[in-house]
Amino acid sequence: MSERWTIGLIFLAPLALLAALYAFGLSIPVPTFGRSYVVRVDLADPGAKIGLPEVKGPQDVTRPLVVIDAGHGGHDPGAVTSGLHEKKLTLAYAKELEARLLLQGGIRVALTRDDDQFLVLQERAQIARELGADLFISIHADAAEVVGATGATIYTRSDEATDADAAALAERENRADEINGVELADQSDAVTDILIDLSQRKKQEGSREFARLIVREANSEIRLHPSPLRSAAFAVLKAPDMPSVLFELGFITNPAEAERLSSPAAREKFARVMDRAIRVYFARQADL
Ligand SMILES: [Zn+2]
Repeated sequence: MSERWTIGLIFLAPLALLAALYAFGLSIPVPTFGRSYVVRVDLADPGAKIGLPEVKGPQDVTRPLVVIDAGHGGHDPGAVTSGLHEKKLTLAYAKELEARLLLQGGIRVALTRDDDQFLVLQERAQIARELGADLFISIHADAAEVVGATGATIYTRSDEATDADAAALAERENRADEINGVELADQSDAVTDILIDLSQRKKQEGSREFARLIVREANSEIRLHPSPLRSAAFAVLKAPDMPSVLFELGFITNPAEAERLSSPAAREKFARVMDRAIRVYFARQADL
């Protein structure tokens, strides 16, 4: 072997050894000593643009737009009782209302979610804002400690809750943004809160008017809670750009109520009543 080859080999040998080790590392699983497994929940980047849902109905942007938000979803089932998950119930009601509004025509409709996906509360309101919604309706079903609790409640947002039950409910619903006690969404700072407050005041009257119309139209068709108009600090209603209500269908911890709410007849009544309330609300706005 020539002297040149010998010197070449001296330089090439370590490189060859490194390449061999690299290939070995790729093909042989390396044990992960001391590492533990974690459960991952995929979330959108904070501040990243969220995917907007399809707007259905007339393609005329001057037509009013209703955004319907089915509460909970994905890893968050909401209230759970004897096999009934709040997230499934709310989605069924949201789809029923969407179908009713589209059938009657003249109104544009979008759902914040139309499958079993998780959205943080701020995203839900943000979807409505970015679409330029004229009305935002979040659908939920309650769980009560009191046996025999019954009836639907229409909530609007206010920092001061009307009563202790309303405050406790808002706290439970706002917990959707927590995993093991860790907040998922950024808390808005004090300045944002003040800005939201000023803008919200104007929209609050619209929210309350719409809530009153729902109660009026529900009449005897929907079983309402004895005090059906209440308010509390719901995070999902922190949408300053449009009147917003949170519709609690009833108490699924009450077995009779859970059964009734699961029936197609109850969904149909809900959609009919809400369709009427929405149309009266928009007709009044047009008259202003
Ligand atoms: Zn809920």
